[in-house]
Amino acid sequence: MIYTDHHVHTRFSPDSSADIESYLLRAKALGLTSVMFTDHADFGTGDELFKDLIDYEGYFNHMKTLEKAYGIPIRVGVEVGYEKNHRGAIDEFLHRFDFDFVIASIHYGDGMDFYLGDFFYGKTQEEAYYRYFEILLEMVENFTNYEVVGHLDYITRYGPFEQKKYRYRDFKEIIDEILKGIIARQRGIEVNTSGLRGLLGVTFPGEEVLRRYLELGGRTITIGSDAHFNEDYYAGVLDEVDRLKALGYTGISAFEKRKEKFYPIEFKRKSLGYE
Ligand SMILES: [Zn+2]
Ligand SMILES: [Zn+2]
Repeated sequence: MIYTDHHVHTRFSPDSSADIESYLLRAKALGLTSVMFTDHADFGTGDELFKDLIDYEGYFNHMKTLEKAYGIPIRVGVEVGYEKNHRGAIDEFLHRFDFDFVIASIHYGDGMDFYLGDFFYGKTQEEAYYRYFEILLEMVENFTNYEVVGHLDYITRYGPFEQKKYRYRDFKEIIDEILKGIIARQRGIEVNTSGLRGLLGVTFPGEEVLRRYLELGGRTITIGSDAHFNEDYYAGVLDEVDRLKALGYTGISAFEKRKEKFYPIEFKRKSLGYE
């Protein structure tokens, strides 16, 4: 199977204890042609847990050893937690290592972490979401050292709000600016299926934004489970392929050595004997 899960965390991420070997066995059982890992590398985070980067030289060597032992190609990606005052350090970090794929994500804003909740204090839901989109827009306009923007509306996963979902039309202008900015710079987005496993029951981003991205001329798109546990590996990926096709997408992107390969969706359906 050619559709590689493009967002996966291992025990090398501070918030995961998933072991790599189990992922590799799972990928082989699924008949995948490669595995991608995207452990966290956060810059400027307010969360103690994420302050230190791992030993990447050891990490790359470890992946090489496993690749040989398990006989499946391992792509080494990274999920960068972006913060505008650390843009230089991020570029330097990405220059130093030979990653296959970079996801750029906003995990915190104005020095506050979304996960820890302090970002939301004193803000209405609209203010909090709007501020998040402003922070993301700043990234899109000033940073291009990545392939896809991670979980584009991640903010909705957190926040003490009863109804966490939002309507695209309430943030239409700024979301359009973000999407146009991504497209103009020839970057992409991901569909992150982690929300399907939680209470929200939606992908990040959801259908309205996926539709709009396509309408505005977006093409590059990866699919990722954002698994932090072995059992979540590949969750929802094939369903997303079908859904994207139904929305009008013609292909899914995959990355190696930071170069894009575009797999027509038809190919998957044929290879699975659907058509
Ligand atoms: Zn993330
Ligand atoms: Zn992640």
